[in-house]
Amino acid sequence: IKTLRLILGDQLNHQHSWFKEEQENIRYVFMEMRQETDYVVHHIQKVIGFFSAMRNFTEYLRERGHAVIYLKINDKKNKQTLPKNLKQLISEYEIEKFEYQLPDEYRLDGQLKDFCSDLTIETEAYDTEHFLTSREDLANFYKGKKEMTMEYFYRDMRKKYDVLMVNSKDPEGGKWNFDKSNRKKWYGKPEIPHERGFRKDVSALLQEVEKAGIKTFGNIDAEKFNWPTSREDSLSVLNSFCKNLLVHFGDFQDALHTEQAYLFHSRLSFALNTKMLHPKEVIESVICYWRENKDEVDISQVEGFVRQILGWREYMRGIYWKEMPGYRRSNKLDNQNKLPDFYWTANTKMNCLKHSIRQSLDNAYAHHIQRLMITGNYALLTQTHPDEVDAWYLGIYIDAIQWVEITNTRGMSQFADGGIVATKPYVSSGSYINKMSNYCKECHYDVKQKTGENSCPFNSLYWNFLDDKREFFKDNRRMAMMLNMLDKKPEDELFRIKERANAIIQNPEKF
Ligand code: FAD
Ligand code: SF4
Repeated sequence: IKTLRLILGDQLNHQHSWFKEEQENIRYVFMEMRQETDYVVHHIQKVIGFFSAMRNFTEYLRERGHAVIYLKINDKKNKQTLPKNLKQLISEYEIEKFEYQLPDEYRLDGQLKDFCSDLTIETEAYDTEHFLTSREDLANFYKGKKEMTMEYFYRDMRKKYDVLMVNSKDPEGGKWNFDKSNRKKWYGKPEIPHERGFRKDVSALLQEVEKAGIKTFGNIDAEKFNWPTSREDSLSVLNSFCKNLLVHFGDFQDALHTEQAYLFHSRLSFALNTKMLHPKEVIESVICYWRENKDEVDISQVEGFVRQILGWREYMRGIYWKEMPGYRRSNKLDNQNKLPDFYWTANTKMNCLKHSIRQSLDNAYAHHIQRLMITGNYALLTQTHPDEVDAWYLGIYIDAIQWVEITNTRGMSQFADGGIVATKPYVSSGSYINKMSNYCKECHYDVKQKTGENSCPFNSLYWNFLDDKREFFKDNRRMAMMLNMLDKKPEDELFRIKERANAIIQNPEKF
């Protein structure tokens, strides 16, 4: 029977069983649509990255004899929404069965379910064959438990997949977690190997996107586009990570630096989230490299990396499907402020924010600690509405897809879920930032001062946040020490702190 199979922009799984079957009467369809480019304002590199990767995957399939329909953004036939395009194609090609892979996003999941329920032809949904857990696994794992600490889920995954285990029973290296050895500041050494980079010319595609009038933000060097957009590229990023960066990945995972946007991070998130790489092959490659190079690479680097993919990534996906759709609206701290305009320009005197935002605008990338402890920290301390924060994170990063963006942003970073993902809010004063970076050295503000015109804004904002949210956190054991310290602050000092913090919150562009 004539079958139409939909492939979404983040379903570029080259190894999917679909492509191994008899292909007679099967047509695949890819669509570049305004529905996807406009649900939030995206970074230009994100739009280019997705469209390039979709086009390359189409080529890959055509070369292997598959029949593919590809609707480009400016095609006359393109009706720009999923249901309208599908309806038209089903009628044009006299399709008798419609098939799709389960979307990772709640919005698309609902849209496709609705679409299928209106169809008179047969429909079928398939797994994407990408994740190591099903949508429901995490909810089942924590059933009846009060807290959903990631650690237990991660250990279970290690056992289930027999990853870094001795006799499938004990953790390799004698412990489950080497996080404590992963907290070094980077002082310019060890040297970070020069990246090869892709330097792809995407000017023609950029022109198409501009012609379509899609609203985007951020910067792009269209002659040197540097993200992997094919399976081959993605494998080369993975190999290069193993060879050059894994050796210090864990050590400098939390480090921040003005001159180094990537440090020892892998930059694999885009290739993973579009499914050009499978998490299992990433984990296996890293472990295989380590086994062959044990005298060079320590297990702590490897465990730190595996934890991110086997632990955090799958955990966030599970939380998403467990908590949506309510999660999208959660704002347990009742934060209401607007995100400052400088998040779109990097025009601020606060050096840590200036560098983290500038790098994000230039590269559509920031590493985890920049997202969590600089931009996220500031947004939470200034009590910004999580909708505003989400829209920024969802737009700016090339790897941002709602299932992993919202759980990290609303959950881990903004504590808007009231403590489902994080057991305490990720907030800090300037001293943490100073400990992990060289930002403060060249900053307009003095990280040591708490109040006064030259004082680091993070210092007053931190104590002000604790004071404002005191009631909310009063029963949180992990906050007891800080609240205790807050209680000991002399009244006049707290008054000055709050005065300074409120001036910043009311007029952030001045700082
Ligand atoms: P590495 O540091 O090299 O880590 C390796 C891989 O581990 C990543 O590629 C990623 O697949 C996985 N990983 C690491 N941390 C996490 C995490 N917390 N959750 C899920 N997977 C993780 N990640 C996204 O993929 N998309 C997002 O939209 C996104 N938004 C974020 C928003 C905030 C506020 C925060 C604090 C984190 C966010 N993250 C997001 C998680 C993390 O910051 C990125 O995955 C990481 O920075 C990507 O860079 P990398 O590939 O160099 O990662
Ligand atoms: Fe950021 Fe404060 Fe350090 Fe400046 S002094 S870089 S504002 S933490």
